[in-house]
Amino acid sequence: MSKRNRTQSLRSIPAVEKVLQSIGVTDLPRPIVVNLVRRELSAMRAEGSIPDFDSVLARIRTALRRVSLTRIQPVINGTGILVHTNLGRSPMSAEVVGKLTSIAAEYNNLEFDLASGERGGRAQYLEESLAILCGAEAATVVNNCAAALVLVLRHFTCAERPEVLISRGELVQIGGGFRIPDILEASGARLREVGTTNKTSLKDYEKAVSPATGLILKVHRSNFFMEGFVDAPPTEALASLAQRKDLPFAEDLGSGAVVKTETIPGVEHEPTPQETLRRGVDLVCFSGDKLLGGPQAGIIAGKAAMVRSLKQEPFFRALRCDKLILAALQTTVDTYLDQTHGKESLPQLPVLEMMAMPDSQLRERAERLVASLRDLPVRASVGEGKGQIGGGTLPRSVIASVTLDLIPESLALQEFAERLRIGSPPVIGFVSGKRFKLDLRTVFPGQDRAVTGAIRGAFEQHKH
Ligand SMILES: *Cc1c(COP(=O)(O)O)cnc(C)c1O
Repeated sequence: MSKRNRTQSLRSIPAVEKVLQSIGVTDLPRPIVVNLVRRELSAMRAEGSIPDFDSVLARIRTALRRVSLTRIQPVINGTGILVHTNLGRSPMSAEVVGKLTSIAAEYNNLEFDLASGERGGRAQYLEESLAILCGAEAATVVNNCAAALVLVLRHFTCAERPEVLISRGELVQIGGGFRIPDILEASGARLREVGTTNKTSLKDYEKAVSPATGLILKVHRSNFFMEGFVDAPPTEALASLAQRKDLPFAEDLGSGAVVKTETIPGVEHEPTPQETLRRGVDLVCFSGDKLLGGPQAGIIAGKAAMVRSLKQEPFFRALRCDKLILAALQTTVDTYLDQTHGKESLPQLPVLEMMAMPDSQLRERAERLVASLRDLPVRASVGEGKGQIGGGTLPRSVIASVTLDLIPESLALQEFAERLRIGSPPVIGFVSGKRFKLDLRTVFPGQDRAVTGAIRGAFEQHKH
């Protein structure tokens, strides 16, 4: 481009103020909008070619929408994956949300003992109710299961006893960036691998124990399974080895279902903290927002003396939960404990309710949805789905599910999926077998109307 040309095009770059006026009201705070307009204009300047004013506005509006989409907001989960890590894992129950609202808006007795008027213990009630739920002597809570594991590893290893014994078959990766060997290293512990990937025996553990051993750790293979020539010693045998050698024995359960998940059709058994502790493990840790169906948290349960000393670690203070999490978890645990009179039914928590929802109900909803879309340029039908638990849990469980299948007449499937994703509310589905599918198992019945609206909206975007 000649020098003269460039000056001309630079002169035609619209002023920030003029663009701001033309854009008008947006749903974003003004400094964010100003910042973005400046950035886009300077990008155009750098590119050296300035489009006409309307195109400039269109480009900036698209960029604003993109920023707006990055804000955390509710989405409709049509993936059929119940504990979807990218979609916020477990949704919380109305009762939990009600409690959260009042605790957030008002003062509370977080560290105040109402009976004596003195300073009180943080989360005392929750710790006791968690212990009862887990069949443990004691329990406590930190930010997430990863934090719980770091705390346990740091506490039970030291310069003289830096080693953690762990089976090679349990050196797992869970989700993005969570690898057991890395967590160990970050905790300052030294990994002592035991056995082989597929087979580890009690003898292997016995041979690995030395004066440098600080802890025996078991990790639940939450997100995969091994079949064939595999073996591992029973937990009871490892527990008695730990006891003979006077070593602490902990297990990272990951998901931590406290109900019998195998009572739900299609779902396999997930080890519970109750049964694991009964087998002789000293401490277990598990997540609050996977199968438990509560807020993000890491629950540690087991021997009272160990829980007490973990809480005395200076590091514990850096991992503690805030009042909102504690309130949400307290209500979740109460929901379980209130349930114990009717053992056969599941507690009223969204994850468990959705997991156990009968097909027939999903099918009725799908049929109603299909009927409500008749006037749109889309072929809608009821399809088959495979609900999954997700969140790195119960990898073998597949729950038969029902989907709303859509084939838009004049729109590519990926384009249709994108429009639903960026619509309001955002709807997340998947493409399979040349159709766009929404699995209704993870769509709340109360969201069906919003789904119809969003699909309608996707075709209206088309007109613009
Ligand atoms: C999910 C999982 C974790 C991590 O839990 P967060 O609560 O996400 O920190 C740790 N260990 C196992 C076995 C898991 O499945």
